Amino acid sequence: MASKKTTIVILGAGPAGLMLAFKLLQRKDLNLVLTIIEKQHSPGGIAASFKEEGIWLDYGSHRLHPSTPEHILHDIRNVLGPSLLKRVRNGRIRLQERYLKFPLKPIDCLRHLPMSFIFGIFFDLLRKPFRSTKPAASFADQLLQGLGPTVCNTFYFPYAQKLWGYSPEQIDVEQARKRVSAGTILKILKKMSAFLPGMKTQNSGVFYYPEEGIGQISKELAERVQQQGGQIFYDTEASGITIKEGVITSVSVIKQGEEHDKLSADFVFSTIPVTRTVTLLSPGENSPVQTAASSLTYRNMVFVYIVMDCEQWQPIDAHYFPEEEYVFSRISEGKNYNGASTPKDKTIICCEIPCQSGDKIWVADDEQLKHIVLEDMEKAAIPARNFVRVFSKRQANVYPVYTIGYPSKLKIIEHYLAQMRGLISLGRQGFFTHDNIHHTMMMADRAVQCFAETGQWNAAKWDAFCDEFSSYVVED
Ligand SMILES: Cc1cc2nc3c(=O)[nH]c(=O)nc-3n(C[C@H](O)[C@H](O)[C@H](O)COP(=O)(O)OP(=O)(O)OC[C@H]3O[C@@H](n4cnc5c(N)ncnc54)[C@H](O)[C@@H]3O)c2cc1C
Repeated sequence: MASKKTTIVILGAGPAGLMLAFKLLQRKDLNLVLTIIEKQHSPGGIAASFKEEGIWLDYGSHRLHPSTPEHILHDIRNVLGPSLLKRVRNGRIRLQERYLKFPLKPIDCLRHLPMSFIFGIFFDLLRKPFRSTKPAASFADQLLQGLGPTVCNTFYFPYAQKLWGYSPEQIDVEQARKRVSAGTILKILKKMSAFLPGMKTQNSGVFYYPEEGIGQISKELAERVQQQGGQIFYDTEASGITIKEGVITSVSVIKQGEEHDKLSADFVFSTIPVTRTVTLLSPGENSPVQTAASSLTYRNMVFVYIVMDCEQWQPIDAHYFPEEEYVFSRISEGKNYNGASTPKDKTIICCEIPCQSGDKIWVADDEQLKHIVLEDMEKAAIPARNFVRVFSKRQANVYPVYTIGYPSKLKIIEHYLAQMRGLISLGRQGFFTHDNIHHTMMMADRAVQCFAETGQWNAAKWDAFCDEFSSYVVED
């Protein structure tokens, strides 16, 4: 048991920060004083939920994937109890003016894909031995080598442009590894085979989802953290981190946008954007690390919600739109995630539009967004029904953008942060990674394992875990 109290400040009350706090507070041997600083009014980060017209809604389609490691699922089950539902996926994807089931299913693809597309994939497979085997220099190279032009030009390349705002040639090869779980035709076929009769496992085509939206996981975790003696300050933003002789000493915060305070800290776990963490350390405007941080970017997203006067708009949970002719990348219907049967006369869908700070989507008002979205829904043959109104929400920094050369900049940042004893950056934004909720919670779980009973932090163990985090691949 650590004899002296250890003071921990966690920046961010998203899934990573909350799971970290929840698990740290269970370590009675550590003798902790723990505080979470969250700039929003409530917990959940990107994976928060809110209620509108009696319907639970998320910031875009969110589900807990069945590949969530058993011990993490166990923790989530413990805090949610029977509220954690197991649901059957019912998604579809629009390709070449047709809808296919998503995740892809072999018989459905054969039935609905144009023959020209199927032959294109077949010829690409035959030509694979003649494609370049040079080490790929970009996302485009990597996927062309693995998948061939038919799948790339129809699906991945327009999707990349829409999601990250750069051409596939400008995107780093690492993006393909982290974001494309099936990077060859054979891997796609293998994934699809999980839906063939006789090949199904109990996790094929299912997901977990809380009754009150994905944010219920964070909401319940936040309650447990407070019950275990942790403090959470909402509407409070970290504005500076103080270091003395290479050791963290305190975090400066601004409460409710005006009241300044300083919290002393032996350890700061930061789940906020790593670029912001660098700025909080004030390394100097022209320092190499600040220059590196300023050159890394995140993509934003506008969520356009459409209220309709009907019980259900479509029986589908999520519709995916990789093609550029549609402004949205995905549309989801909240009630289809938790199977809510009320309200009887209303449903709300959420259209996800990736964008950049200051661009025409980011600054558009609800009336403008309404026209843009309704027009593209007509184009996609899924018009709104009994339209009532539109409202929108915005989230900055939803996707880290991996432009070519980003790894060398990230290395500069990682090297700089590694010098600061007591400062650990983790989570989706803190690790500058594309990940799922369960990945971000695994980071939290691993961080707790790096504390010895004496309260000492095992940096070498954490470094080894960081290699593991780099291997995570996103699931859709
Ligand atoms: C559109 C979309 C759909 C997704 N769908 C899925 C899905 O289906 N399944 C899945 O598993 N994952 C999904 N994800 C990923 C999932 O949302 C993330 O993995 C998860 O939210 C990351 O949690 P986190 O705690 O690391 O970060 P975040 O959720 O980003 O939390 C970080 C927190 O830090 C706070 N913060 C930032 N700056 C400061 C500051 N200066 N001071 C104090 N607080 C600050 C933020 O307000 C936020 O609450 C999706 C992501 C997106 C964008």
